[in-house]
Amino acid sequence: PIAYVNGDFVPLSEAKVSVLDRGFLFADGIYEVSAVLDGKLVDNDSHLARLERSVGEIKLPLPETIARIKEIQRELITRNGLKDGLVYIQVTRGADVGRDFAFPKGVKPTLMMFTSVKDIVNAASAKTGIGVITVPDIRWARRDIKSVALLAQVLAKQAAAEAGAGEAWMIEDGKVTEGGSSSAFILTKDDVLVTRENSSAILPGCTRKAVVKLAEERQLRVEERAFTIEEALKAKEAFITSASSFVQPVVKIDGKTVADGKPGPTAQRLREIYIDFARSTGE
Ligand code: PLP
Repeated sequence: PIAYVNGDFVPLSEAKVSVLDRGFLFADGIYEVSAVLDGKLVDNDSHLARLERSVGEIKLPLPETIARIKEIQRELITRNGLKDGLVYIQVTRGADVGRDFAFPKGVKPTLMMFTSVKDIVNAASAKTGIGVITVPDIRWARRDIKSVALLAQVLAKQAAAEAGAGEAWMIEDGKVTEGGSSSAFILTKDDVLVTRENSSAILPGCTRKAVVKLAEERQLRVEERAFTIEEALKAKEAFITSASSFVQPVVKIDGKTVADGKPGPTAQRLREIYIDFARSTGE
């Protein structure tokens, strides 16, 4: 595979940045992930708008325009012959000679991008559903920024993997914030879709946003509010959303089944609706 690093297209295995890069030293950077379906970027403007917002929030100037970043995304898809997968973008504050915490002057940010192959539409786990475990949400207070500081999520998702679960739901003040790398939804007994409202407590998911809109357009009731695990265990259905999984049914929470333990019809329908939307927004 071919990657992009600071203006050059290079084999991914040879792509390098300095050990003094502030992404490496301080996690002083942000990232973004867009899905690719049939060689086209899914809902990409939404991801690039969030990228712009993330860099703005940490006062990091983008080294390239959004238009140029889009061209690089497309060039990577072409060069890699990518049909289905992901395009990863990372921007850090660059490499300086020292290790000053404050922003160094005259340092060019690092822009790095690569692709990976993933058949999201045909993922086996979408048919069976996944289990989630719950963990305390130990992250910082600005989760609305898609920061590369992901240690809390690494530990949460490792705990999930060790428990044979597909995702970790993070809990704060008794309520679910979100998944380690996904937004969390439930469908209540009264057929109300519930997902936590956007705030600094969660990442504003691009897939979440699209799914909420698609559901509302189909007269599904949506409530944006936090929910507890007790409520989720009493729900008809549960699911997660993300660019790398679209919509995935959740059938178990901490080993207890949600409803009958099978993927629910609403989650499955929203997955199909989202896939149609993904194909239609592909560019
Ligand atoms: N929440 C967190 C913490 C994430 O890391 C992600 C994606 O990686 C999401 C939610 C889902 O966001 P999106 O739908 O934009 O991929």
